[in-house]
Amino acid sequence: MRFAYDDDNIFARILRGEIPNKTVLETEHSLAFEDISAQAPVHVLVIPKGAYVSYDHFARDASDAEILDFNRAVAKVCEQCDLGDGFRAITNARAHGLQEVPHFHMHILGGRPLGRLLE
Ligand code: C5P
Repeated sequence: MRFAYDDDNIFARILRGEIPNKTVLETEHSLAFEDISAQAPVHVLVIPKGAYVSYDHFARDASDAEILDFNRAVAKVCEQCDLGDGFRAITNARAHGLQEVPHFHMHILGGRPLGRLLE
């Protein structure tokens, strides 16, 4: 599959510092920030700094260092946001996944019981 990355997507602009964000943590290869339209008491987006459109793109083409860094960033967000009672990690991809922003991101939701995923 070919993945065409749009350099002007909103998360690319956040990474370039053109748009402000509420940073939760930043690592060498990843950034985590609060979702602007939180769906739960904790709603953080974790993104790689590299130009990847979706999860499958990232998992296929990112370096081992980027993938490790991303996963460790997710774990750090869970720790930092006190998600010991549990959380949900979601990533939407392309049209059928209703992905709005075409830069790979993982939603981390928690802070309350979340209900069933598929209803
Ligand atoms: O997975 P999906 O692409 O649908 O989600 C995009 C998410 O990015 C939404 O939850 C939206 O609230 C969030 N967003 C944001 N800051 C922006 C633009 C979108 O947190 N400036």
